[in-house]
Amino acid sequence: MHQQLRGIGVSPGVAFARTVLMRPDFPDVPDRTVRPEEVEGEVERLRAAVATVVAHLEELGRKVLDRAGEEESRIFDAQILMAQDEDFLASVEVLIRNNMLSAETAYEFKALELRAAWSASQSAHLRDRLADLHAIQLRMLNVLMGRPGHEIWSLPEDEQMIVVAHELSPGLTVQLDREHVVGLISEEGTRTSHAAILAHSLGIPTVMGVTGALAKIPEGTLVLIDGQAGAITVDPTPVELEEAKVQISRRHRLEFQLESVVALPAETPDGIRVSMMGNVDLPDEIEAAMRSGAEGVGLLRTEFLLTGRAALPTEAEQYSYFKRVSLAFPKSPVIIRSYDLGGDKFPAAFRMPQEANPFLGWRSIRVCLDQPEVFRTQLRAILRAAADRNVQLMLPLVTRVDEVSDTRALLAEERASLLRDGFKVAEHLRVGVMIETPAAVLIADKLAEVSDFFSVGTNDLTQYTLALDRGNARLAERFTPHHPAVVRQLAQVVAAAATRDLPASVCGEMASEPLSAVLLVGLGFRIFSIAPPSIPLVKWVIRSVPLSAARAAATAAMDARGPAEVDEALRDAVAPHVDLRLIDPHAALQARGRVVSLPTPPPPS
Ligand code: PEP
Ligand code: MG
Repeated sequence: MHQQLRGIGVSPGVAFARTVLMRPDFPDVPDRTVRPEEVEGEVERLRAAVATVVAHLEELGRKVLDRAGEEESRIFDAQILMAQDEDFLASVEVLIRNNMLSAETAYEFKALELRAAWSASQSAHLRDRLADLHAIQLRMLNVLMGRPGHEIWSLPEDEQMIVVAHELSPGLTVQLDREHVVGLISEEGTRTSHAAILAHSLGIPTVMGVTGALAKIPEGTLVLIDGQAGAITVDPTPVELEEAKVQISRRHRLEFQLESVVALPAETPDGIRVSMMGNVDLPDEIEAAMRSGAEGVGLLRTEFLLTGRAALPTEAEQYSYFKRVSLAFPKSPVIIRSYDLGGDKFPAAFRMPQEANPFLGWRSIRVCLDQPEVFRTQLRAILRAAADRNVQLMLPLVTRVDEVSDTRALLAEERASLLRDGFKVAEHLRVGVMIETPAAVLIADKLAEVSDFFSVGTNDLTQYTLALDRGNARLAERFTPHHPAVVRQLAQVVAAAATRDLPASVCGEMASEPLSAVLLVGLGFRIFSIAPPSIPLVKWVIRSVPLSAARAAATAAMDARGPAEVDEALRDAVAPHVDLRLIDPHAALQARGRVVSLPTPPPPS
């Protein structure tokens, strides 16, 4: 049935495809008996379901191997062994035969028994394996009950789909196959939730914060999504589909035109040079960052390598990953961020306690300093990778000077130990601080004394300044770095860095939004690190808007009473130089259906 839904556009692009609903819940299994002559057929169905589930798991393991790494893919080996457990399957067969039950009824019965036994067990190991057991049983029941399309990786290879979920975790998002998953819709989540950041990096059009999406959008319906405007059309009319095709081809044309700026510097028409680095969250983004003309990696997120895996990565494994990234950018810096665990990132390999306020809890640098053996392994890998490359270290969520000095002390110890062991290590590893909290802004002068550079994480800085959960869809309208309280802090960071001549960059999502990028240039930032798909557009905008206009907007923003005035100042400053419909979600919405073309920016003087 035709209907329009609204949400938050978190990753731009227009797409249409049939939907697949992700239901993480166990299905209701009816108590079903079968006739005596059907019993053997049920046993066969059970065995066939095991084969299907094992095939899915093998396929998933291969995908995760390509995308994340060997260790991550091993989690599926363990699940495959569990799915094939002969003792368990034999007990299900006995139940089918003796009680003449359907395969799913018998399987569910035995699974409940096993889950109860494992939950009650004193063995920590068994309790740890419960999550795996849960995952396999869910897959088995879905296959046995023919729940359609639950397994996104089991769909035919040539089929494209839009996935609808309650919440997209970073763990799920990392597994998505972007060739087949052409769009994402979720009930929870916002522009700066980590799953949204991943979807954006992967270039999948995504709308989050769509209340009641799972109930309102039927499985297998054709859906049209606009990941910029946050608009969803269920069961679109032929006219709407035609319009979408026009938009898709317009976007392709825009991309084609933007290709011409990939090889050009990000330089304002009045000659101010901005360095455009790339954020890399997953190994397969290295290539995307290179293709989009990134001048190095300004934020290499390391925690996503832990997602969905059973063990922490070893020093050798991390070293080879860091080396791989630095070899891809032989002439430019690669800035590795130490583990930013906690908040909404809870890897299975790491025991995080249940907390009432995880974003105000045991997070990031706090976890690393409290778990030195985990931190030391990472520091050693970074020190080795930096031996003959421009590899640097960046610390997240810093709120105190001693977090930096304690890290430096650990680095000195690990450096000495590596040298004793005969490894080549960096002579002087540059250590930077992420400015992500008002505390860090307020003591930026002191942090500057112990840091080699600053990088502003505007996602967290906005969250902590405005006391707004970055992942809460209900608050998404209020969540904006255009609040003057954030803008003023950004100016303070530039000033504090300048007193000691430190480079200051921005690596939060703010820098990937064209209007915000102009504000950042006006405030004095000269280094950006952004999701690779956004680099060409932001570069094009920087090449179009003179510094004088950006500065005027920044001055007005500092004096604004609220975000609306900041938005207005930015639009006024940018409109004479750039067609706003191309870069602003609201203006783009008004321009729907009209073909707009990209003017060539004037060459820098
Ligand atoms: C930020 O907070 O802006 C940032 C870049 O870090 P993350 O999004 O990974 O928390
Ligand atoms: Mg952050």
